[in-house]
Amino acid sequence: MDIHEYQAKDLLRDFGVKVPSGGLAYSPEQATYRAHEIGGDKWVVKAQVHTGGRGKAGGVKVCGNEHEVFDAADEMFGKKLVTHQSGPAGKIVYRVYIESGVEIERELYLGFVLDRSSERIMVVASSSGGMEIEEIAQDQPDTIIRSVVDPAVGLTEFQAREIVFKLGLDASHVQGAVTTIRGCYRAFRDLDATMVEINPLVVTSDNSVMALDAKMEFDDNALFRRQQIMELRDKSQEDLRETKAADQGLSYVGLDGNIGCIVNGAGLAMATMDMIKLAGGEPANFLDIGGGASPERVAKAFNLVRSDENVSAILVNIFAGINRCDWVAEGVVQALQSTAMDLPVIVRLAGTNVEKGMEILENSGLPIATATTLAEAAEKAVTICKSGLTPPTIAAAS
Ligand code: GDP
Ligand code: MN
Repeated sequence: MDIHEYQAKDLLRDFGVKVPSGGLAYSPEQATYRAHEIGGDKWVVKAQVHTGGRGKAGGVKVCGNEHEVFDAADEMFGKKLVTHQSGPAGKIVYRVYIESGVEIERELYLGFVLDRSSERIMVVASSSGGMEIEEIAQDQPDTIIRSVVDPAVGLTEFQAREIVFKLGLDASHVQGAVTTIRGCYRAFRDLDATMVEINPLVVTSDNSVMALDAKMEFDDNALFRRQQIMELRDKSQEDLRETKAADQGLSYVGLDGNIGCIVNGAGLAMATMDMIKLAGGEPANFLDIGGGASPERVAKAFNLVRSDENVSAILVNIFAGINRCDWVAEGVVQALQSTAMDLPVIVRLAGTNVEKGMEILENSGLPIATATTLAEAAEKAVTICKSGLTPPTIAAAS
């Protein structure tokens, strides 16, 4: 789960990370009021959206008076911010954050990620801040510092200091930077984060070390024990299709093609995508029904997949281990009978109770194409899509 920059800053502040003073606004009037509260003569108005790269897309404005704050906020509210990270759909701005503007002396990069090869949290830092880590990795790979944290010991003072020295910070900034690094690490660990990114971490002209931007991501599987984090969720920033699926306990991934896929397990989903591509087609999405899916769950999955306008055929590919083919077949039949359906359906079942499952499909009298192998199923789906033939409408049973 993603959260907003202002939320991440609020969390990090409690761990001793220094951030500029700021306040949230839901209207331009509120934005000016916040600026007034904060005081000073320079503010930054920042669009709160779940994507990076806001600066280059007009989502970060430095302002010199309250009128400018009003105008900047007014310009941002309701706007669809399309950044190079947001994808073409962009993210709509409903909240803006007003911050005290700081004079930047130096910009650095500081990130915390889960390093799967060492199975530990890794600190990634660079003396080149402000640009994205991918860019730094490409243009200045030598500046990247990596440091793996031993979970039994935590991120020690000396390890943090070592990172700070490698960043080439002045002696007077060492303590501030060490506090920031250790604070971020503790926040990562204590809040079940999967990512913390401070880009840029800055040294200001009045000699303090501050997090000017903050991004945090959390482990969805740990949210049940992180009520405080769960409450920070902002559904307006999520893909509606994915949110709807998640609310029903299904995992959905939207793609750009026209074949909707219902599968069980992420591995089988990948294989299904590959086979569709190999057969010359493009998947529109995939929906993972997981293990032990009931007919009702399968029917829900069906309705979700076909609610995507781009879908012109649905491919069901189930390898039943924990699942049961007969339940999946019942779910498919239920879904097709409950509402009129004019999309062709291709089903490939294998594993537990496969004979029973095929029997249910055949006896249903519904025009369902079946296949015994994944290759055959993918080819059928692609051929049907490419033929451009309007499939026979399956009338609602009732
Ligand atoms: P992002 O583009 O979404 O990553 O948003 P950031 O919060 O990182 O802001 C983008 C850039 O705006 C930063 O890299 C800074 O260069 C600049 N910026 C943000 N806040 C301030 C500020 O208080 N003062 C100044 N001078 N520049 C700022
Ligand atoms: Mn940034």
